[in-house]
Amino acid sequence: SIMPATLSAISNGAKNGILVKGGVHLEHLSLLRVLAVDKTGTLTQGTPAVTDFIVREGLHELDTLAVLAGIEAQSNHPLARAITKYAKKQQIVIPHNIEIEDIPGFGLEAVFEGNAYSIGKPEFVGKELANSFHNGALQQLAQDGKTVVFLKDEQGIAALVALKDVVREEAKKAVAALKELGIDVLMLTGDNETTAKAIAQEATVTSYVAECLPETKVEHIKKYKADFEHVGMVGDGINDAPALATASVGIAMGGGTDVALETADVVLMKNDLSKIAYAVKLSRKMQRIVK
Ligand code: ADP
Ligand code: MG
Repeated sequence: SIMPATLSAISNGAKNGILVKGGVHLEHLSLLRVLAVDKTGTLTQGTPAVTDFIVREGLHELDTLAVLAGIEAQSNHPLARAITKYAKKQQIVIPHNIEIEDIPGFGLEAVFEGNAYSIGKPEFVGKELANSFHNGALQQLAQDGKTVVFLKDEQGIAALVALKDVVREEAKKAVAALKELGIDVLMLTGDNETTAKAIAQEATVTSYVAECLPETKVEHIKKYKADFEHVGMVGDGINDAPALATASVGIAMGGGTDVALETADVVLMKNDLSKIAYAVKLSRKMQRIVK
């Protein structure tokens, strides 16, 4: 039977926008030593916007954007949505019904009017090509915390798109409050090293791991569990679900994908990261009463 202290903690959580799916998760919350956080959509708002668009010399800027947006329009990745939105604001006709292949964690491939294209991270289109495009523009953009996506055609890199996502307003305070409770915050992201570093610094997390695939996030959670036993994970995406399931406590952002919400033990109904420290305090108080 459920203890009154547990019930009262769960109901207190609910009133504060924290949905805890059972007393056992409060117990695990009270013991947390490490919290892993996803970047896009968790530490950041997850609605990036295009800041820079550069095409190869000799290409028509808006025609190139139309092809890029036509391909991205077939994907519902946050970056794809941002690029499509940007293109729609220009006076261009975006091609419809392009058949794409989605390569999770890397990007997209498509054939349009007989030409093969790929869109995605530097590693996907070729790191050397990406690095040397437009006098090495990638480096500075990434240092500014921007995510850089490339469009490649049969001649090489055709265009670069830089996108900037905003670190959540409460992120710094939330991280500080967790540190005060003795919990280290580590960021896990599929994004590249330079961008990851810039966002990690902005959000003041203890450390970060870049270029994570969904299974890499799981491996890191397992490794932290071997070292610290009580490890939480907070995320929002389909790609975070395996890691949420592996953590001692999986925490989902309320605005996240269904899979994340279903897999998690705790849901932050209002996407408010500062509620994590609140939940930990609540759980510790409950544990003192129960014991
Ligand atoms: P994250 O873990 O940051 O949420 P993902 O694992 O979904 O990111 O993707 C990792 C990287 O792959 C992105 O930062 C981007 O460079 C590239 N990528 C994936 N899907 C797309 C897409 N549809 N359009 C452009 N780039 C993409
Ligand atoms: Mg995410």
